[in-house]
Amino acid sequence: MRSNTETYLHKGMRKKMVDGIREKGITDESVLEAISQVPRHYFLDSAFEKHAYEERAFLIGEDQTISHPYTVAYQTQLLQIKPFDKVLEVGTGSAYQACVLAELKAKVFTIERQKKLFDANKSFEFLQNYPTIRRFYGDGFEGLPTYAPFDKIIITAAAPFIPEKLIKQLKSGGIMVIPVNEGDAQRMMRITKRADGTFDEEKFDEFSFVPMLIGKKD
Ligand code: SAH
Repeated sequence: MRSNTETYLHKGMRKKMVDGIREKGITDESVLEAISQVPRHYFLDSAFEKHAYEERAFLIGEDQTISHPYTVAYQTQLLQIKPFDKVLEVGTGSAYQACVLAELKAKVFTIERQKKLFDANKSFEFLQNYPTIRRFYGDGFEGLPTYAPFDKIIITAAAPFIPEKLIKQLKSGGIMVIPVNEGDAQRMMRITKRADGTFDEEKFDEFSFVPMLIGKKD
């Protein structure tokens, strides 16, 4: 069960969480503001409620996790979201990252490969606050060709490689932020697509994500 009440205690813990993210090096105030607007405890089982604002990942079912708050902030900052950007997210999970993107006024198209996690969000009332989020059950390796091209693409699972099909669904000048396997961890990468279809690659810090897996799961 997810909790759906907010107290001043939650607000206080969230403010501290945002201060922590800022101290760790996130400088984009619009990203910090978006994170301070989303009650992270709504996205977790109420058993974790007291810990929801700690700098850690949590299980959200089906062996999947909601990312660390710092990781969400880091990926979001690299994406350089502008209002009305069309953003594809691979790995909806709890939908927390999707809500942070929607707070930045992005139009979010988010894909989840696990039916149980996809279905769990159907009854998640808080998502009604974000009519600009569209959720899809499918394989993120395929992207969403019908809705392409996208201004931005964010992968929130450990990618074994940079999926060619997703690069194709990026607008010219568009940005993809993707953690790519490198040994036991993932290197955060930012891919910027050039007009001729080739791309620039920038490498950032290492993170640890659950794997991006091929195909859907019932
Ligand atoms: N963004 C999420 C965190 C997700 S954890 C949040 O804010 O809570 C990674 C998620 O990616 C998991 O739910 C996992 O099932 C999903 N996933 C892994 N491979 C995928 C794929 N190929 N397509 C879509 N989703 C995928």
